[in-house]
Amino acid sequence: MKIWYLSALLLWAVPAMAECLHRGPNVILVTLDGVRTREFFEGTDPYHHAKLDPSERGRIFNRLWENHASKGLVFGKGGGYRIASDVAISLPSYQALMTGHSTHCQNNQCGRVKEETVLEAVRRELGLKKSEVAVFGSWKGMKNSTAQSARSIFRSIYPDFKPYAGDRTLRKLRNASVFDRPEWAGSRKDHYTWDMGMHYLKNYCPRVLYVSLVDSDEYGHEGDYPGYVRSLRAYDSYLDSLIGALDGMGAYGKDTTLIVTTDHSRGEGEGWTSHGSKPDTEKEVFLYVRGPGFAAKGVTDSQATHANVRPTIERALGLRLSGQALPQD
Ligand SMILES: [Zn+2]
Repeated sequence: MKIWYLSALLLWAVPAMAECLHRGPNVILVTLDGVRTREFFEGTDPYHHAKLDPSERGRIFNRLWENHASKGLVFGKGGGYRIASDVAISLPSYQALMTGHSTHCQNNQCGRVKEETVLEAVRRELGLKKSEVAVFGSWKGMKNSTAQSARSIFRSIYPDFKPYAGDRTLRKLRNASVFDRPEWAGSRKDHYTWDMGMHYLKNYCPRVLYVSLVDSDEYGHEGDYPGYVRSLRAYDSYLDSLIGALDGMGAYGKDTTLIVTTDHSRGEGEGWTSHGSKPDTEKEVFLYVRGPGFAAKGVTDSQATHANVRPTIERALGLRLSGQALPQD
C-alpha cells in the first residue's frame, strides 16, 4: 500500500507540461458558436425563465465579467460589433473570419474556403512549422473554413481520424469522444475539444491556436434553453482556466493575444432556436480581446466587425496588415 502511495505521489509530481519558450508573439482565438449578445452581456433571457430553476437565472459569464473583462476590451454592447458575412450562418461567417472578408459562401454546404486563410498565411509568412499553427474544432464544418489545404496546418476537427501516434493524451481524448457522442450529429462534445486544445497549448506552445466550440448552437437548435445556458457557463469556466494558464506561462503568456467571439447571434422569442439571413440583428455579436497593445478598459463603444480580426492577428504577430485591425482602446 505504501509503495503504491509513493508511486502515485511521484506520478503526480512529474510536471504536466514543458515550459514554453518565448519565440515571439502568439495568438489564441476561441469561437463559441451561435451565442447571442443578450446572454453574453446580460445573462439569461427572461423570456425563457420558466424553463430555468431560479438558481440558474441571471448573469452567465460571471468569471469573465468579474476577473477578465476589465483587463481587455469587449466589443458589441449596443450592436457595435458585427459579423463580416452576408448571412448569419456558421460556415459563411467562419470563412469571413478566416479570410477577412465575406466570401461567396452562403450556407453550410458551400464547401472548402477557396483562398488562403489567415492561419495558412501566418504559417507561410513567419516560416512556422505545421505544429505551430493548430486548430481544434468540435464541428465538422470547421475544416471548410480554417484552411484551403488539408495539410497546411495542424488540425483536429471532428470526426478526426488521425491516430495521433505521437501523443497519447490527444489520442485518448479523441477516442473517448467517439464513445461519448452528443445528441446531435456532426460534432463531438466540446469538453473533449477544449481539453485537447489546452493539452496542446501547454505541451506544444503553438504560435497560433484556434479552439472552436459548438455545443451552444446545437442546444439552441434543439430548443434546449437550460442546455444552452449550461454550455455557456462551461465556456466561462474554460476561458477563466485558459487565462489562468496564460498568466502562469511567463513570457509566453504575457506575449499572447486572446480573442474570443462567436460566428452569429440567434433569433428572439420562439425564434431563438434558429438563425440565418433575417433579422439583421442576428449579425450583431460580441468580441473580447486582451493582450499586448490593447487597453484594459472593458466594454468599449468602438465599432468593429469580424473583418477586423484577420488584420488584428497579423498585427499581433508583426505581419503586414491585409486590412484594418481592431481599435486598441
Ligand atoms: Zn446553427
